[in-house]
Amino acid sequence: MIRHLAIVGSGPAGYYTAEAAQKKWGDDVRVDVFDTLPVPYGLIRTGVAPDHQSIKGVSRRYETTALSDNVRFVGNVTIGQDVTVEELQQLYDAIVFATGAPHDKPLGLPGEDLANVFGSAAFVGWYNGHPQFAELAPDLSGGHAVVIGMGNVALDVARILSKTEAEFAGSDIVNHALDALRTSHIRTVTIVGRRGPHQIMMTPKELGELMHLERASPRVDPADLPAQEEDAILEPGLRKSVGHLRSFAAIPDNERAGKAIGLDFDMFASPVRLVGTDKVEGVEVERTRVEAGRAVGSGETYVIPADLVVACIGYRSSPIPGVPFDERAGKFANDEGRIVPGLYAVGWARRGPTGTIGTNRPDGFAVIDKIAEDLATGALGNTAKQGRAGFDALAAARKLDVVTFRDWKKIEEAENQAARDGAPREKFVDIESMIRARG
Ligand SMILES: Cc1cc2nc3c(=O)[nH]c(=O)nc-3n(C[C@H](O)[C@H](O)[C@H](O)COP(=O)(O)OP(=O)(O)OC[C@H]3O[C@@H](n4cnc5c(N)ncnc54)[C@H](O)[C@@H]3O)c2cc1C
Repeated sequence: MIRHLAIVGSGPAGYYTAEAAQKKWGDDVRVDVFDTLPVPYGLIRTGVAPDHQSIKGVSRRYETTALSDNVRFVGNVTIGQDVTVEELQQLYDAIVFATGAPHDKPLGLPGEDLANVFGSAAFVGWYNGHPQFAELAPDLSGGHAVVIGMGNVALDVARILSKTEAEFAGSDIVNHALDALRTSHIRTVTIVGRRGPHQIMMTPKELGELMHLERASPRVDPADLPAQEEDAILEPGLRKSVGHLRSFAAIPDNERAGKAIGLDFDMFASPVRLVGTDKVEGVEVERTRVEAGRAVGSGETYVIPADLVVACIGYRSSPIPGVPFDERAGKFANDEGRIVPGLYAVGWARRGPTGTIGTNRPDGFAVIDKIAEDLATGALGNTAKQGRAGFDALAAARKLDVVTFRDWKKIEEAENQAARDGAPREKFVDIESMIRARG
């Protein structure tokens, strides 16, 4: 019997799951991969930094899966809004949520609502052309930006704020962001973290890039670094990252003075409130020390000047009506990917926002094993479902404007043709233009 699978979300987790389903069932499975956007690949398109094109290249692998006969892209359809989960359950044997974690975790601090304070989902979405954030228009006319967080997303944001126009050659940063950055007055980017060098979540490659920026130089206060012997207990990747921080601390002042932009690491500093009247003017932080891996406040506070604040402190998934959700953890309530028999979660919707792109692959394979188990035990029922034919009838009755993979290829071609010199593409940043481009 043909099995029908609905995957909600076309990011890495969605396509790895589709690949796993193909490997498991071959011609005996039909997979529909839904996405809210008319374009596929989730954060590969809208999260991964525009100047990291080799990483974005992973989408070629998903294309191989997407182009096979038994996998279909169903774009421009929001599950939970255009179509309910209950309706999908009537049509498909199993539904896998690969919806990611698209919302910024709030800072939970006074002053968070001041103008020019953004979460990284919004800010990164702005420079990467996510239709939801294309109109963000951050004000880059001030001299000082504060980036809160000690992970790779904070590094992406700090690097994008520091690069020259020439350094964006070959990237697919969208035109509206490039225009704004061209006239940016930001000359100091302070990267703030509650804990110290041994607790950073930044990887060596991303830290190492800061040493090679044309007009920006990283700075770490040598007093923040633990004795070098203490690095011996760190796992090798983190040890290498801390090594980069040590190199930043050793950059001579005269070398740094030759660079227009300072990238200052302010560690052991826990934000307590954002100050300003209408627009943000500073971030008040409390000096901390680290005890048993946790930041402990010292009571001493100071204000870091800030004309722009980007909080890179993590993400939350959104609940979908009819699907059990763990509010505290900000992800679907699941046991190793199984929400209940028939409903499953993979990727960031399953685990929360951690790990690399590749971390999502085993999730996809594991969940397909769970679905196979549930099929074998009869937990998913034995009646034949209608799958894609049933969905097509529903979509026609509801007049949904479904975007197919073939449509996406036309959108992609139009984006490639519109690229500025040396860039791979110029993305459409609103849904209407995407739809129009498919012809
Ligand atoms: C700023 C940033 C930079 C990153 N850089 C790197 C990097 O350099 N290297 C690396 O290895 N990892 C990087 N990552 C991590 C990587 O992007 C994630 O591991 C990965 O994208 C998670 O995959 P996912 O499929 O779970 O979610 P996503 O990629 O977020 O995909 C979710 C998809 O679901 C769709 N969707 C959501 N809700 C619905 C709904 N109700 N109906 C239909 N569709 C829906 C969304 O539109 C989206 O397309 C980065 C992450 C961020 C945020």
